[in-house]
Amino acid sequence: MSSPLPLNPALKNVPVYQGGRPIDEVAREMGLPASDIIKLASNENPLGPSPAALAAMQKVIAGLHLYPDGNAFYLKQRLAEKLDLRPENLILGNGSSEIIEFVGHALLGPGVDAVMSQYSFIIYMLVARLFGANPIVVPAKKYGHDLPAMLAAITPQTKVVFVANPNNPTGTVASQEEILQFVNTVPERVLVVMDEAYIEFQEEPADLLPLVREGRPNLIIMRTFSKIFGLAGLRIGYGVASPELISGLESIRQPFNINSLAQAGALAALEDAEHVRKTRANNAEGMRLVSQGLRELGVEYIPSAGNFILARVGDGKRVFDEMQKLGVIVRPMGGYDLPEWVRISIGTAKENARCLAALKQVL
Ligand code: PMP
Repeated sequence: MSSPLPLNPALKNVPVYQGGRPIDEVAREMGLPASDIIKLASNENPLGPSPAALAAMQKVIAGLHLYPDGNAFYLKQRLAEKLDLRPENLILGNGSSEIIEFVGHALLGPGVDAVMSQYSFIIYMLVARLFGANPIVVPAKKYGHDLPAMLAAITPQTKVVFVANPNNPTGTVASQEEILQFVNTVPERVLVVMDEAYIEFQEEPADLLPLVREGRPNLIIMRTFSKIFGLAGLRIGYGVASPELISGLESIRQPFNINSLAQAGALAALEDAEHVRKTRANNAEGMRLVSQGLRELGVEYIPSAGNFILARVGDGKRVFDEMQKLGVIVRPMGGYDLPEWVRISIGTAKENARCLAALKQVL
């Protein structure tokens, strides 16, 4: 339906993001009890939120009539200590996806190019289009980022290059050497957005924080509390960059984008090493079992460094629909131009077994 209002013409090029389907919505539609449904569609933490975060949030509920600390003093302070940085190196977002939008406000616009990889996180494309910039999508190599080709794709009009490491939805990962070579070769006038939403699932991840400590002006690293910390519903993530870039982005940020619960929950989750350890162990074991199950079913998959796995099931939409009828929500990948694939988040041992059984039945 067209609006009589003079809407921003860029909007017609920005489809509405389709997230993983919520359990309650599927329950309503299928006439199933919500408790019978499992969701392995949004790379959430199957062990739930950090118990320490839940306890800390309980304590701040009584103060919800007050605005939050707009600068999240304690959370920034603690994050800075943990990362061996200064609070001036940090910006918090309502999910790390909000930080992508900050970057858009700061750098993207008509006549600007933004370089990204085929099969990378779709929000890069949506944000580039939202700001009227031109997305340059570089063909993937073995479903991962072709970093040398991405370098070669940088034009004089390019202001931002997006890299997800590990990448969603493919789970591919570049080594420390590859990623350093890339970041060190990108021209200084181009911002590298290094999306590390899944970095905590790796045993030995590439570490780019030293570059930020050294004051690299054209790098922002993004991380999130949505994945390993189990707080996707709270909406909180952070960006790490030079104080000069952070200060620019701070002018864009709404003053209270991180609510009081999110600040308290994230602060406590940072200290909950046990929850992180359990989550990582559950993921490693689940990844092993799901990969093995897919091999037994003769289903091709891409080895993944994240908490999800991309599986080539034939007709992804059909498999998604049929599995949903069995109470298992996975993610169809048609929107990523991968119509033969579904993405499966790693769940608990029980959820993984149920997912594989449903997939077997559907195939
Ligand atoms: N980056 C990547 C690669 C992701 O997969 C996601 C979540 N799906 C995000 C960023 C955004 O996460 P959030 O906004 O919840 O921090």
